[in-house]
Amino acid sequence: MPHITLNTTPSQTIAVQNIFCIGRNYAAHIAELGNKPAEDPVVFLKPTSALNTSDVIRLPSHSSDVHYETELVVLIGQGGKNISEDSAVRHVAGVGIGLDLTARDIQSKAKAAGLPWAVAKGFDDSATVSAFYPVSPGVHFDKMTFSMRLNGAVKQQGHVANMLYNVPTLIAHLSRMFTLQAGDLIFTGTPEGVGPLTPGDELSMELTGVCVHAVSALVP
Ligand code: ZN
Repeated sequence: MPHITLNTTPSQTIAVQNIFCIGRNYAAHIAELGNKPAEDPVVFLKPTSALNTSDVIRLPSHSSDVHYETELVVLIGQGGKNISEDSAVRHVAGVGIGLDLTARDIQSKAKAAGLPWAVAKGFDDSATVSAFYPVSPGVHFDKMTFSMRLNGAVKQQGHVANMLYNVPTLIAHLSRMFTLQAGDLIFTGTPEGVGPLTPGDELSMELTGVCVHAVSALVP
């Protein structure tokens, strides 16, 4: 069973359950891919075999255009069904920074054909994450920012306040359809600036004031 680390004192190893992902949650990223804003959050899932907590990304052989999408990732600590937006923060055990890796060539074909995104979004290492860090009960997700440097150059900067659907709304929305469980991860969507990875690329993701996570891309 795939695990993540939650940096409490002492630190905890937590088995990851479902990996939920949100698409089209930042207006500028919707525009850069030529998509339309959705009426509800776009939800998809990754298998737990996609989880990667190591410092390398093994690029998949079935795609020639794997894109990075840097995202705030939320760890659920207390499960529930029909969680209200007001109580949603109490269900969060921690936050981390991650990459929703996307085989853009495969995804574009799937979109055009109206087919699911599993093979474009769920391959090994496609859910690359840092360790997770606890949040205080009064946390303001809207004040969080994050960034990603590729080979030293800043490629993405995220302001959580710019999400179309904020973290409490996402938790409430997901929990209406899925019973959330302790150990679920929620990838909350990517801001603009996505782009391709090539072997040898060095990525450094930072959740400002919380953590930095560095990974390098390679062909296994
Ligand atoms: Zn994404």
